[in-house]
Amino acid sequence: MANWDAIVIGLGGAGSAAAYHLAARGCRVLGLDQHHRGHALGSSHGKTRIIRQAYFEHPSYVPLLRRAYQLWNELQLAYGEQLYHPTGLVELGPADGVVIPGVLRSAAEHGLAIEELSVDEVAHRWSGFAGPRLRQHGDWRAVIEKDAGYLRVEDCVEAHLRLAEQASATLRHDRPVRQWRTTGQGVEVTTDDGIEVAAKLVIAGGPWNGTLLSSHGIRLRVLRKYQYWYRPKLSGYAQHDGFPCFFHETPTGYFYGFPGIGDEGLKVARHSGGTPVESPTSPHPIDREEQRQIEDFLKGYLPGVGAQLKAQSGCYYTMTADEHFVVDLIPNAPQVAVVAGLSGHGFKFTSVMGELASQLAIDGETMLDTSLLRFGR
Ligand SMILES: Cc1cc2nc3c(=O)[nH]c(=O)nc-3n(C[C@H](O)[C@H](O)[C@H](O)COP(=O)(O)OP(=O)(O)OC[C@H]3O[C@@H](n4cnc5c(N)ncnc54)[C@H](O)[C@@H]3O)c2cc1C
Repeated sequence: MANWDAIVIGLGGAGSAAAYHLAARGCRVLGLDQHHRGHALGSSHGKTRIIRQAYFEHPSYVPLLRRAYQLWNELQLAYGEQLYHPTGLVELGPADGVVIPGVLRSAAEHGLAIEELSVDEVAHRWSGFAGPRLRQHGDWRAVIEKDAGYLRVEDCVEAHLRLAEQASATLRHDRPVRQWRTTGQGVEVTTDDGIEVAAKLVIAGGPWNGTLLSSHGIRLRVLRKYQYWYRPKLSGYAQHDGFPCFFHETPTGYFYGFPGIGDEGLKVARHSGGTPVESPTSPHPIDREEQRQIEDFLKGYLPGVGAQLKAQSGCYYTMTADEHFVVDLIPNAPQVAVVAGLSGHGFKFTSVMGELASQLAIDGETMLDTSLLRFGR
């Protein structure tokens, strides 16, 4: 006899949302995480994450993003604190590159409001972007998405956890799951406290999913990544100046960042690259070469920021081969739902991932089309 309707392994971005949605549907939920609440050892820390809808990665994500936006709005209302900050996002790159054509395609297919600009117009609107290298790219275009912005990442996780508890979920941190297995129609999950039995299981172990799912034919690659905060030497880069989030497709990789927020500084990171690691470890060693690339990017494209580093933090991307997520039931184990391989662009989706995982676990199917995100695609 199951003592829980559902167990969720991993209470980070996706798992906290899954625990909330399951509990909100009246399930008796047990959530387990190996680390303490609010830890910075996985993939959901570092103050901010970009959220945008005109998705260059694939237009099929747009309906999921529409739902994600709704859910973030509902969450922040229920939590009583702002989680989503609509600063706008400027994306810049070659007219025939990956980002600009991808954004235009998603916007056209789904009727999304965007504004196309020349790079000169961008530099005129925000002088902070008027870097020496921008002017060299005669073939570049820019797109502005006004409803894009950022999410407060740790607060989003905490909001899901708190509302899950208010809906009667039991959450236990510092409880590593040592093993799980299916038993007939249900599951058994082993921790150092013993065995917990449930009817359904949701696995949302982020960069540890490779271990949790090692015998289920999912190949994930973990990359160590960094985020950097700089104290801008010139004014005009702060959120209160109207400076937006930004994403540049450059000849040396994809770089993105956020306006300066309060006294946190301006955060910037490199989306491409990253160091492959066997599994997450801490502390993160400093990567001088990546820091050099970041400062070279700033010098070329946001020259008023300078190179006064305020803070840096390591994090992990968990990559699938095609960089699309996996959200599905495990083949041959329909009582187990998985959210995995968020591939460095998944936080904005975690609200809807949690809802999809709860639907998979309870109903065996999802309300939205997730065919791009199936196990055996
Ligand atoms: C530097 C950086 C910048 C990013 N920028 C963006 C962005 O701007 N926009 C965006 O949308 N996305 C972004 N992402 C990606 C996004 O943050 C991740 O895709 C997302 O946070 C992953 O969430 P997750 O739930 O899969 O993993 P996590 O949040 O890491 O959660 C996994 C949880 O599972 C727990 N766990 C694992 N194994 C076990 C076990 N055996 N027992 C118990 N608990 C276990 C872990 O302790 C952890 O708490 C970025 C990622 C990084 C690293």
